[in-house]
Parts: sequence; structure tokens; C-alpha cells
Amino acid sequence: MDCPRCRQAMEVHMLDGHLGRDVEVDLCEPCQSLWFDGKENLQLTPGSILELFRAIGEHVRKPELRDGELVKCPRCKAGLRRTKDMQRNTRFEYFRCPNDHGRLTAFFDFLKEKDFIRPLTPQQIADLRKNIKIVNCSNCGGPVDLAKGSACAHCGSPLSMLDMDQAERLVAQLRVADRGSKTVDPALPLALARARAETESAFKGLPGHDPWAREGWSMGLVGAGLTELMRLLKRDS
Ligand SMILES: [Zn+2]
Ligand SMILES: [Zn+2]
Ligand SMILES: [Zn+2]
Repeated sequence: MDCPRCRQAMEVHMLDGHLGRDVEVDLCEPCQSLWFDGKENLQLTPGSILELFRAIGEHVRKPELRDGELVKCPRCKAGLRRTKDMQRNTRFEYFRCPNDHGRLTAFFDFLKEKDFIRPLTPQQIADLRKNIKIVNCSNCGGPVDLAKGSACAHCGSPLSMLDMDQAERLVAQLRVADRGSKTVDPALPLALARARAETESAFKGLPGHDPWAREGWSMGLVGAGLTELMRLLKRDS
């Protein structure tokens, strides 16, 4: 399938859904988005959410400024509608077909929807401000001038980072369900723990020494966290 936003070929990911169903998710690397047919985003099991989390980590790159209004449904060509939603205290959005064929969700919004993202604390913002001036927004790629505030002036997203809690919860859930050997990469728990430690220490020292920090600011903090996590997973496997 071609991406409804940028028209490039999407990569198909087959995942496990509830009740033994297969869920097909299309991933677009150039515009950093996922397409779900119908309501398949609700069919994902904890294992497939983790798998998508990992697929995002392997494809994440510096976000580009996007023009979402050009998006059309790949099935019926109707204009997709920008839809705002809320998950706990996190706002996220996606583009949905008015005829219910599916929805296009940016990586960043998928991570928000599934609880993988949290805003920086005031303390973290203060630590960051001591060391750097500008960080790119994880949502739209726009530069955020830390002297002027902690939200992106272009899209309004608060500065955010990856929250490993959710990934750790999913891993724990899968282990309880005793399907761990099949669905959880044995290296994942350790990599998550390391990524958490390095992400948190990145606010203290900085910048230059740590590869996380160097790549980090241009990719946005969320992309940097994901890149670091994937680097750790590769080293262990
Ligand atoms: Zn695309
Ligand atoms: Zn449609
Ligand atoms: Zn932004």
C-alpha cells in the first residue's frame, strides 16, 4: 500500500491481534506514520504493541515538518479528518477516514496513545536548559528554544521524553501470561533498564560525550531515546 500522506510504499507488519486474529499494520518511514485498517489499532495485544514500539525504534529519524491536511484515505480517497483524542492526561491526534476505513497515526502520537511518552518535569527542563539552547520537537521537528519555554512554538507539544514504564509493564504482562519466550526478546528487559538509566543521566552531564546526547537533540528527545534503546538491543543480540 502507498502511504496516504506521502505516497511512498509502506512496509507491512503482521502482528498478533486479540482472539488469534492477524493485524496488518502499514508503516511509512519517510513521514513517520502508521496506518491501521478499520479499528485494528484496538486489536493489538501487549506483545504486538511492544513489537510496534520496536519497529518504530528501528525506523525513527528526525521528524520533518508535516502538512497533515493533504492526507487522503487509501481505500476511498476521502479526505482524512484530523481527530483529537485523550489518553489519561495525554492528548494525541490521528487522521481518520470519514467512512471508517482506518486511520493514520504519526509514530509520536502512537507512542502517546499507548502511554510511552511523558512530558519533561520542570527539573529536567531546568537541567537541560543549563547545557543546551535548542532541542528539536519530537512531534513536528521544529526547533524549541529552551530559553523561551518548554513547548514547541510551532505545534504546541510540550517537550517530552520516552517513558520506559509502559514498555516494562508490557514485558511483565507478557511474562505473567507465560508467552515470554515467543513474544519478548530476551534482551529487551535489560536494554530497557539501561536506556532508562542513560536517558535520565543525559540530563545531568551533557553534551558531547554521550552519543545519546549528540544524536539526541537533532532527533528530538523521544527519537533519541528510541535510537539509544535500539542501539542497546543490537549490542546485546
Ligand atoms: Zn508517508
Ligand atoms: Zn476511506
Ligand atoms: Zn512541534
